[in-house]
Amino acid sequence: MIRDFLFEEFNSNLKIFGYISVFFFFETFWPYLVKFENRKRHTVRNIGLFLFYIVVTTPVNYVAASWYNFIDAQHWGILNLFTINPTVKIILGIMLMDCGDYFYHRLSHRSKLIWRFHKIHHSDSQMDSTTAYRFHPFDNIGLVITELTTASIFGYGVDTVVIYFAIYLPVLMIQHTNLKFPNWFEKISFFYSGAKKNLKNSCLSCKLFS
Ligand SMILES: [Zn+2]
Repeated sequence: MIRDFLFEEFNSNLKIFGYISVFFFFETFWPYLVKFENRKRHTVRNIGLFLFYIVVTTPVNYVAASWYNFIDAQHWGILNLFTINPTVKIILGIMLMDCGDYFYHRLSHRSKLIWRFHKIHHSDSQMDSTTAYRFHPFDNIGLVITELTTASIFGYGVDTVVIYFAIYLPVLMIQHTNLKFPNWFEKISFFYSGAKKNLKNSCLSCKLFS
């Protein structure tokens, strides 16, 4: 079980590094914000923070993965009280999970305690692909607790979480990248890129539908 989890976790982190590398490559040759100051130092600092984040959050993610499997095995939660088409259940699960994440994100801006950790993400003065995973690990622990609570109440498990992150990962990259997309694409609120946020110097939204 632990070996399987570590293999999955390794693959998942590799995927994140893959996304960062691809976006970073395009940002190098076709950046939206041409005057990006001290890019080398910025990259080393953000990647260093990400590596620290991986080390601390891996055991937390192991507990979370075990809990999602437990929910599936025990048929916990409101959605499991009814006979629902599996696809519909996953769609509902994704929406509920994102609502829970949105709630936590709002809370992290209002709670002085959580903000102490969450502000690490928002304190990046220039945004690019390396900002996407610039998080304090304690911020992630609060998010995981929220996600496990939401999953326990509503009763969605591994499939929903895997699909949620498969969608969330590229969206997160687009939200922070220093690339300019066509206007029609940027008008879809959750694709509001890091390039525009650089101009406003703030991260407006970090969740799928928030
Ligand atoms: Zn925030």
